Amino acid sequence: MSVIGENIKEVLADIEEAKKGQRVSADSKLIAVSKTKPVEDLRDAYEAGMRDFGENKVQEIMDKIPALPGDIRWHMIGHLQTNKVKYLMGKVYLIHSVDTLKLAEEISKQSIKNNLTTDILIEINVAGEDSKFGTSDMDANLEMIKAISELDNVRVRGLMTIAPMTNDAESNRPYFRKLREFAYGAARPYIDGEPVLSMGMSGDYKVAVEEGATYVRVGSKIFGQRYYNI
Ligand SMILES: *Cc1c(COP(=O)(O)O)cnc(C)c1O
Repeated sequence: MSVIGENIKEVLADIEEAKKGQRVSADSKLIAVSKTKPVEDLRDAYEAGMRDFGENKVQEIMDKIPALPGDIRWHMIGHLQTNKVKYLMGKVYLIHSVDTLKLAEEISKQSIKNNLTTDILIEINVAGEDSKFGTSDMDANLEMIKAISELDNVRVRGLMTIAPMTNDAESNRPYFRKLREFAYGAARPYIDGEPVLSMGMSGDYKVAVEEGATYVRVGSKIFGQRYYNI
């Protein structure tokens, strides 16, 4: 098995182990975050059984899709500009990074035009970091989710957060808990179906699973360090 395959096996085993310590039961799935990595690396991950891949640049997704098998579910996890929305129509399984009503309106407009429905997550900046997109003002987030849930041809499936960079995964636990509480609390009426919670990365995915993540997004732990386009 490839190094990437071995890494995936390890992460999946960690996820299974963390599930035993879950406070709330959730079917935590793994997204392999393959941004900046060459197609050969994604192929190794695919051979190891991965079907969910996360990318953060529209152009990179467009380049990789035709080079890889058609049963891959592509997840757009990076900041999305409204003028690029049109390229993603019908190409991605889930857009995790919807952080403004304006962006959601464009996704709605393009989805109507293409006669399809697009599944999205609302990005919440739970820790209130200036460097991140989205806001930590939960009243504002609620207003936004409510407005987005009323748009045609978009389905709000849940929430996503990028927790702070830290060497102490435990310190992110309150943020994961807060995201889940919001999804099952105030935001619940505006989420379509059982809430999807996209949270946890290489440094803290075990804690995120314990707190009920439905998707963890793991990059460097699978593919190794990235040298650009962090
Ligand atoms: C890059 C990225 C990840 C993966 O980060 P790692 O620390 O390498 O696991 C997860 N989520 C988002 C939104 C990212 O941009």
